[in-house]
Amino acid sequence: MSFELDNLSPQTKAFLSRRATGTGLLVDGQWLAAAAGQTFATIDPGSGLEIGQIPAADTTQVDAAVAAARAAQKGWAATVPAERARILWKIADLIEAHIDELAELETLDQGKPLFVGRWAEIPGAAAQFRFFAGQAMAIEGSTLESSINYQPQGKQMRTWTVREAVGVVAAIVPWNSPLVLTAMKLAPALAAGCTVVLKPAEDTSLTAMRLVELMIEAGVPNGVINLITGLGAQTGAALANHPGVDKIAFTGSTATGRAVLDAAKTNFKRVTLELGGKSPSIVMPDADLSLAIPGVANAIFFNGGQVCIAGSRLYVHRSIHDQVVEGVAAYAKGLKVGHGLSPDTQMGPVVSARHAERVEGFLNRAKADGATMLTGGERFGASGAFIQPTVVVDVKPDMEIVREEVFGPVLVAQAFDDAEEVIAAANDSEYGLAASVWTEGFSNAHRMSSAIKAGTVWINCHAMYDASLAIGGVKQSGWGRDSGKQALDNYLEWKTVCAVV
Ligand code: NAD
Repeated sequence: MSFELDNLSPQTKAFLSRRATGTGLLVDGQWLAAAAGQTFATIDPGSGLEIGQIPAADTTQVDAAVAAARAAQKGWAATVPAERARILWKIADLIEAHIDELAELETLDQGKPLFVGRWAEIPGAAAQFRFFAGQAMAIEGSTLESSINYQPQGKQMRTWTVREAVGVVAAIVPWNSPLVLTAMKLAPALAAGCTVVLKPAEDTSLTAMRLVELMIEAGVPNGVINLITGLGAQTGAALANHPGVDKIAFTGSTATGRAVLDAAKTNFKRVTLELGGKSPSIVMPDADLSLAIPGVANAIFFNGGQVCIAGSRLYVHRSIHDQVVEGVAAYAKGLKVGHGLSPDTQMGPVVSARHAERVEGFLNRAKADGATMLTGGERFGASGAFIQPTVVVDVKPDMEIVREEVFGPVLVAQAFDDAEEVIAAANDSEYGLAASVWTEGFSNAHRMSSAIKAGTVWINCHAMYDASLAIGGVKQSGWGRDSGKQALDNYLEWKTVCAVV
């Protein structure tokens, strides 16, 4: 598990010495240090080593970033859609041109295995910018035949609607998939003509800085994108509460989502909230187990379970329960866990030592509640934030480990006897983000996808996403959707025009 920072590529080293030295704030096109010089360390979770220093922006810099975004907004919204689209497309090209560097940075900062960034998340970020380049040129209002009977002096009443940019957007993102989740907010916001103040998570600011460099290279004008790093409770809260912000686009935990909602109400900011999940994977008795066993394992162990849509609750029909659960446990035992930059690593550390302690706390409380660790259940390694891939059995529906989002490589397995029972169990959660159903039967697929309360239901697959598909949840998993053409609506207002002409 040992890894030397000296092994990093020359591009990554150059970036770190340029930006991870406390000079990573971007306000109105200028790279800045924190006003009062405060910085905090960003740590490689695979080795525990410090990677660099990140500036902690104070309220004066949050003010300056919001003011820059405000000053730039009219001009950006007036830029013709084809020009906004050209710039967004160029950003996608630049992301792809720097894919290896971005993947390395993401792994270094977040811990994920290199292949996750290289083959899924960084291409996924580029795809968001391309998709919304197209959407920028497809914004449309409508004309309406109203029934207003007012025609003075032979004139006519004409009514139509136009879409207008919401204004200044605060984009607040979490640490689990930093670049792609950032792209999901920036691409539609810029396509719509909004300007942005971006606040990455304190554990993972690096790819946000590199992305913003690439955005400037692509021609994004000064003030249209601003980057504010810092701690959530200070910098994040100052941004969310700022009266100059028109809309908050938030992804993060349900608890922080509540604080953001409170902040939004001060000036009735528009708000979208992509929050937590405790998504079920359901294996029906007619499932193809050659797909289902690796599928449900991958649904939880991909990215170390630090995926909002992770399949963290497994429900298996009693007739095949032991076969499936033992198969998933064997898969877990076979995973090569190590530093994300080691080429053979299949699962990396969790994001930080603090988060590893949090996950460990869930595991210890589950053991105390009487649950059994079929495999895993411990932290390990002398350095780094490593948790064993874990399968938990002998649980009851009201246990914390069944109900709360652990956000780590921890799967909780339960048996069921019939479809009605498993639908009720799947829906017995305060969350409603996603679900997967594993079945060869069309009726099962149709019935379950309709009965499960979730933003996305996958059949015989899990966590498949694409820039064209909306992501988001019901219940306490949030408000609104990111990605897909539905996301553009988050950044546009409707204006109705009634004219006597
Ligand atoms: P978090 O809520 O701790 O932090 C998210 C962001 O909010 C960070 O940038 C943080 O600095 C900032 N923040 C913290 N306190 C704030 C405050 N008072 N005001 C404003 N901003 C504040 O979440 P996290 O631990 O970084 O991320 C994990 C969570 O994100 C999980 O719950 C996961 O399910 C969720 N998530 C949801 C989706 C989705 O699409 N629904 C996607 C990814 C992650």
